[in-house]
Amino acid sequence: MGELSDWAVSAGEKKFRAQQLYQWLYLHKADSWESMSNLSKKFRELLAKSFRLERIKIVNQQSASDGTIKILQQLEDGQEIESVLLVHDDHYTVCISTQVGCAMGCKFCLTAGMGLKRNLTAGEIVEQVLNLWSLLPPGESIRNIVYMGMGEPFHNYDNTLKSLNIFLNDHGFNFSSRRITVSTSGIIPGIERFARETDKANLAISLNGVTQEARKKLMPISKRYTLEDLMAACRNFPQETRKRITFEYILMKGLTDSLQSARQLVKLLHGTKSKINLIVYNENPDLAFKSPDQEAVKRFQQYLLDHGLVVTLRSSKGQGISAACGQLATSKKKKS
Ligand code: SF4
Repeated sequence: MGELSDWAVSAGEKKFRAQQLYQWLYLHKADSWESMSNLSKKFRELLAKSFRLERIKIVNQQSASDGTIKILQQLEDGQEIESVLLVHDDHYTVCISTQVGCAMGCKFCLTAGMGLKRNLTAGEIVEQVLNLWSLLPPGESIRNIVYMGMGEPFHNYDNTLKSLNIFLNDHGFNFSSRRITVSTSGIIPGIERFARETDKANLAISLNGVTQEARKKLMPISKRYTLEDLMAACRNFPQETRKRITFEYILMKGLTDSLQSARQLVKLLHGTKSKINLIVYNENPDLAFKSPDQEAVKRFQQYLLDHGLVVTLRSSKGQGISAACGQLATSKKKKS
């Protein structure tokens, strides 16, 4: 909002014009300058000359039988990104991307195969939510935003934070900070900066390995930021105004789904204000990993519950359209 106010003042307008503009863009989700009826014609003409209002284009849309919708969007430079609308019984959640591709190289993730093409701007991050919002039935709204799509949010820290502040601004989207979660593969300086610079939004850690050795094999980032240091950063993370840190843990057959891993996970999380989000791995022909047996999933989950941990088992929404966790990758990559 600050930048917009400064711009309005420098253009000879009153400061409150920025607030009105915010309302049009993010509360009313206006898609034309003409529709902004309480702005003067002169100001609307200036806006049209100074800014681009077109959103990034939806070029493909797929729906799964559980209601999940995945959209492929084309950016101005021709790059493509994916975002997902998850339909729950009584609310909607969106999963958004922060980069085109990703540099983190997690072995189980299709986005990793794209490499990093570029960071998204804050505008491109926000426009994904506007695009998904436009698909909702009239009168419905999005309740949760998760930064868990393509890319590592803390590898594009400034634009991630800028978009977060747009989502939280009470003149626009007015999302509750409790409803937004930023997920990282474990970039410790990013976690520390996030802790210092905002007390808004929840933190999620993509964990997936319970020892340094196991994690390093799946997530190369662990070579740079070790599991021990990551857990120390999590224990130091201020949580007065936030919910528990979510630790995402992918269950893969023969790799991460043993009872021994469950025991180590309990030990690892001891003393943290956390919850575990277990994710059943979705098999993909491009990767060699296998989905765990149902029995193994139940046993793993039960062990954690028996030891007092808060556990959710993420149902694999959007599986048939490759919209589930770790499956986002644009067709350009898939063809290559
Ligand atoms: Fe990047 Fe996330 Fe995929 Fe890892 S899991 S490669 S951080 S998109």
